[in-house]
Amino acid sequence: EMEGSGTIWMNGEFVDWDDAQIHVLTHGLHYGTGIFEGVRAYDTDEGTAIFRWEEHLDRFFASAKPYDMDIDFTREELTEATLELLDRNDLESAYIRPLAYYGYDSLGVSPKDCPTDVALAAWPWGAYLGEDALENGIEVMVSSWRKHASSQVPTNAKTTGLYVNSLLAGEEARRNGYAEAIVLNKEGNVAEGPGENIFLVRDGEIFTPGLSESILDGITRNTVIELAEERGYEVHDNVSISRGELNTADELFFTGSAAEVTPIRQVDNVTIGEGTRGPVTEELQTAFFDLVERKTDDHDEWFTYV
Ligand code: PMP
Repeated sequence: EMEGSGTIWMNGEFVDWDDAQIHVLTHGLHYGTGIFEGVRAYDTDEGTAIFRWEEHLDRFFASAKPYDMDIDFTREELTEATLELLDRNDLESAYIRPLAYYGYDSLGVSPKDCPTDVALAAWPWGAYLGEDALENGIEVMVSSWRKHASSQVPTNAKTTGLYVNSLLAGEEARRNGYAEAIVLNKEGNVAEGPGENIFLVRDGEIFTPGLSESILDGITRNTVIELAEERGYEVHDNVSISRGELNTADELFFTGSAAEVTPIRQVDNVTIGEGTRGPVTEELQTAFFDLVERKTDDHDEWFTYV
């Protein structure tokens, strides 16, 4: 159940949480024609700070492009509305969900005169895969579902409809007793999690599937690549990773705005490394949390303060 309450921003107005409703014949509900973001704001000594808001806005507008969706609000308007949303809802830390979708007008697949409706919501959301997951890692299953190929849909656009694949993979994993899935791409190489990018550590070097592997261009992925390089790691971020390489990795971890940096301790029935959070994962996870909680003062340009 949603933990949220308060107000939601819809098409320029703040409305009560319970009144943020839409028509059942909304285009996006029928055809998955929406695009969205998942963003975190952290409670820091300098107040509430949205992490990499500008990059999330970039991706939000980029995701709308292949669907020819006109978002009638400027970056400045969306930023101002989000800051006011956090303030009105008294949120010190939050998960923020910007959404744009084809609304109510006609129900042909062609959206024709359907409006592009835009909403912003925010609510408290703790560790996506649980606090224990951050410390001890999770057990994951390689899904029997493949990720849609980037030749079939733009996988670099964060599109609502594409998340049926994430649901199928994630629920299959959970039915089998695992916390999350790893999804292979059409070629059978490692793509990502249902809502996370994946990293592999081997012999002190770091590997993550390249953008041509049908993945989302994750903002946490980019953050972790930068943090790792700053700490002297060699990061290979344009590679293919075969399924078998998962088993022989020293360490594996997921990244995502929701999942943050989550260690993976087991894949199917194979223990990864020592079966605990590995040292490189721990170093980068600590660097990540120190950064987002502003315990360090680096990369201040990545923060938008309320
Ligand atoms: N891949 C998919 C499919 C996702 O849904 C997400 C979450 N947005 C990610 C990767 C991670 O991206 P980010 O770090 O930008 O949240």
